[in-house]
Amino acid sequence: MSDIIRLLPDHVANQIAAGEVVQRPASVVKELVENSIDAGATKIELYIKDAGRTLIQIVDNGKGMSPLDARMCFERHATSKIAHADDLFTLKTKGFRGEALASIAAIAHVTLQTKRASDELGTKIQIEGTELVNQEPVQCAEGTNFEIRNLFFNVPARRNFLKSDNVEFKHIIDEFERVVLPHHDIAFRLVHNDQEIYHLLPAPLRKRIVDVFGRNFNDRLVPVTEHTDIVGLDGFVGKPEAAKKSRGEQFLFVNNRFFKDTYFNHAVSAAFEHLLPPKLFPSYFLFLEVDPKQIDVNVHPTKTEIKFEEDKAIYSIIRSAVRLGLGKFNITPTLDFDRESEFDLPLSMANQTPVMPEIRVDKTYNPFNVENTREGQLSGAESASGSSGFKNNGFSTALNNAGFGSQFQSSSLDELWNAEAVSQEAEEKPTQIQIEVETVKSVGPFILKGSFVIGSIPEGLLVFHYRRAYERMLYDEMMRGFFVNPLASQQLIFPMEKKLSKQEQLAWNEHEKTLSRIGFNWSWEEQELHINGIPEILDESTLLSCVDKILEQLQMGTLDKGEIAHTVLSQIAFAGSMSFKIPGNQEAISDFISRLFEADEHTFSPSGKRIIAQISNEELIQLF
Ligand code: ADP
Ligand code: MG
Repeated sequence: MSDIIRLLPDHVANQIAAGEVVQRPASVVKELVENSIDAGATKIELYIKDAGRTLIQIVDNGKGMSPLDARMCFERHATSKIAHADDLFTLKTKGFRGEALASIAAIAHVTLQTKRASDELGTKIQIEGTELVNQEPVQCAEGTNFEIRNLFFNVPARRNFLKSDNVEFKHIIDEFERVVLPHHDIAFRLVHNDQEIYHLLPAPLRKRIVDVFGRNFNDRLVPVTEHTDIVGLDGFVGKPEAAKKSRGEQFLFVNNRFFKDTYFNHAVSAAFEHLLPPKLFPSYFLFLEVDPKQIDVNVHPTKTEIKFEEDKAIYSIIRSAVRLGLGKFNITPTLDFDRESEFDLPLSMANQTPVMPEIRVDKTYNPFNVENTREGQLSGAESASGSSGFKNNGFSTALNNAGFGSQFQSSSLDELWNAEAVSQEAEEKPTQIQIEVETVKSVGPFILKGSFVIGSIPEGLLVFHYRRAYERMLYDEMMRGFFVNPLASQQLIFPMEKKLSKQEQLAWNEHEKTLSRIGFNWSWEEQELHINGIPEILDESTLLSCVDKILEQLQMGTLDKGEIAHTVLSQIAFAGSMSFKIPGNQEAISDFISRLFEADEHTFSPSGKRIIAQISNEELIQLF
């Protein structure tokens, strides 16, 4: 029998390669724009027809090609960008495989016009499915102009698999965004079916982001920067309130090349932990600079996956830099824990004289309930002592008749917790409630329903989850106090004894400074933890479950010290909020809600649960 192995003809080999490189029109856009950037262009224009099916044209003012290069560039493995395998590890260019143009020319009708600055005349070349159709000298502008027509003309399967023009054009936009962000010093124009979609002038990064994603992005961006021997990191993250339900604007670049990386994506999400409700995604635009020797971009033909030698270190750097960035903008209560036992004052407090800790909370006393003594009394006579807006409108009587006491007795609490446990499972609505404090002052009158307080505003109704609001305020108050001084502790008459596992002991000991600063004091009897003092805000009845939760969180081990404080304080705030009582009159509720709105974060509880929901007038009308 004769031998059966043959070399594939070029056009077949190119078509096979094209299958990897060119999945859809957007891939062509990506490859061509990258080539223009590599050619040093400062201005790149794209003209697209029918989402790239009919035409993809790219015009650049880069360095152009000689007549021979113009012909060579369509050969497979033809590249000016690397000469040796070693060059792969010092890449400064986007391309290097010498595959893109050969692949594109195998599956489309291509016209190239190109001219170098030093040449009198340029070169025009036409290629159809790898076949050279025509080559001639031509008068043309300096730079390069590619026209790609009839993509996949000879690969019907691919052509038939293309999605609608809308979808394909969306892919083009995606690629466009990924390349214009890092190259903000280059001017870009994108025209689709004679309509100008983008016209971007050279600009600093922040301006480029705003030019691409819209003006309202400007207020949402928080700068992130960190430079170490391993990695340089610059860029922006979106503030938590700008987070979205979909992973829209999440961009990672390394040496100005877009890439996807679930591990680093997780680093960013981890930095946003507790700042975002579940199922919301932060936006980010992060640019890593890494020694090209430390990465391998050659793992995937379209090069969106990249291997990092130092990925673990980079993960931590991203996470802490983002956290720090958010902290600087007062979005998260980040503490400077670099020095073990010192606690720096936040800038806003630096000029204040420290005061003695003032969180002396009577366990039965609700600090926000100014009408604490009026339990259960809502009669007109009672309200004569000053509460306004509530008397003589029959409202209070109606409430009492309907069974809503002015305060919730603890007997009804258990029921509420159960109801809450269920409702916490339900998906949270993601929108932030932005309402001026002035407007809030005029919210009302309020009605009470379970742990909800419902108020009226001109735009509709605001529904508050009172316990969570209370939890948020307890947390904020403790966090503020914690910055300045250790929190107050109350001694237990009978120490709480708890046998800890080895891991739990280690976790407790590891964080002993933070725990004692928060108000715990304890001793050890062998493996047994004897808690003698607890944060004042904690009730003995919720102590055990709170300590369990704290231990559980501490053992996760990945928390940095700032997060430990957050974790412990949010557990304490949650436990402490169980003793909430909704005040008995309109004024006190109104006061409470005004104070809630004065807090930086009022829409979500420390654990990311929704505190306020808004029902617009339109939504109300639609109910009927
Ligand atoms: P690669 O980019 O991996 O080198 P390509 O097939 O994309 O491979 O391009 C082949 C070569 O063609 C490049 O190395 C470059 O020399 C040349 N080239 C492509 N596009 C341009 C352009 N817009 N301006 C100048 N030269 C270009
Ligand atoms: Mg290329």
